[in-house]
Amino acid sequence: MDWKIERIRDRCTTCSQPFQHDQRVVSVIEIDLSDRIVRRDLCSSCGSTPTARSVWWEARFEIPTQKKRRVDFNRLLRIFEAWQPSPPKNQEALLYLITLLLVRKRFLRLVDLVSEGGREFLRLRRPGPAERTFLAPAPLLAPADLPALRARLEELIDGSFEEDEMPTSPDAAAAAV
Ligand SMILES: [Zn+2]
Repeated sequence: MDWKIERIRDRCTTCSQPFQHDQRVVSVIEIDLSDRIVRRDLCSSCGSTPTARSVWWEARFEIPTQKKRRVDFNRLLRIFEAWQPSPPKNQEALLYLITLLLVRKRFLRLVDLVSEGGREFLRLRRPGPAERTFLAPAPLLAPADLPALRARLEELIDGSFEEDEMPTSPDAAAAAV
């Protein structure tokens, strides 16, 4: 098991206090010692001590929670930046989908495809004043792999992608167009 998300997000993971409408909730995504992706939702008094590989954000709790939320791409970029230096084990496909989404949205520019030790990587550039380049794994995926990855990612970041935000193929060059 490399994936652990509490299905019930209506209470604090630490103190179990139910969230009230409009309350500030801190969501933390981290990689635990067993290399699993863990998400925790915390009330402000429980807070959290972020680690180097954790990504967190604050949002207001909403009742009802079934409402579709748009994806915050800055959140995705922060996850990408936290994971890219050493991708969590067995999560390269998820990281790759994040990469494709960011390329499509022009948060990252595709520089080229490189091969290292028999594995493929994308070289990417983040444009803007704090320009940086990244190397991210490019595992072999089929278009049929995308829907399940998409569902996991939407669960992780609490947002629903618009159809035109999703890549239709796992081809990085196509996402860059
Ligand atoms: Zn709490």
